[in-house]
Amino acid sequence: MSIEAHKCNASGCKGFIVFENADFNISNPPTVNGMYEFHNPVCTECGKEYKVVPHYVVISFDEQGDLEEVEPACITEWERREKVRNLENETDPHEKIRKYIQLHRYTYSVADILSGYLQHKQGAYVSYTMKDCIEQLRPELERLIN
Ligand SMILES: [Zn+2]
Repeated sequence: MSIEAHKCNASGCKGFIVFENADFNISNPPTVNGMYEFHNPVCTECGKEYKVVPHYVVISFDEQGDLEEVEPACITEWERREKVRNLENETDPHEKIRKYIQLHRYTYSVADILSGYLQHKQGAYVSYTMKDCIEQLRPELERLIN
């Protein structure tokens, strides 16, 4: 038998959601209104209703064979990382500049960056965002002008 307690999330409530998890049939969870649901406890103080549902975790094993937890991430983090990888793997300088602008949500065109780079090379003042593009894309810009 194992008793679990969770803190109620109702604002200002100091109560708990308390339930016994021993009887949960993990391999065949009961269904309530089309959703898997083990139990429906209420807060000990405010009476807010909760549902205990099946959940999964992602794990791996370290060199000693001990269980390691994996940090969860949100889908937008992954999407952003994919865009960065896509940018890093881009070999065409024009495309790489275009993707960099897009990733950083700049409003420049590739031609803008190129002319900004040429002005910068001649010692002209360029904006902070233009300078960022120039510094990050210097090898690509060099390839485009040569
Ligand atoms: Zn409560």
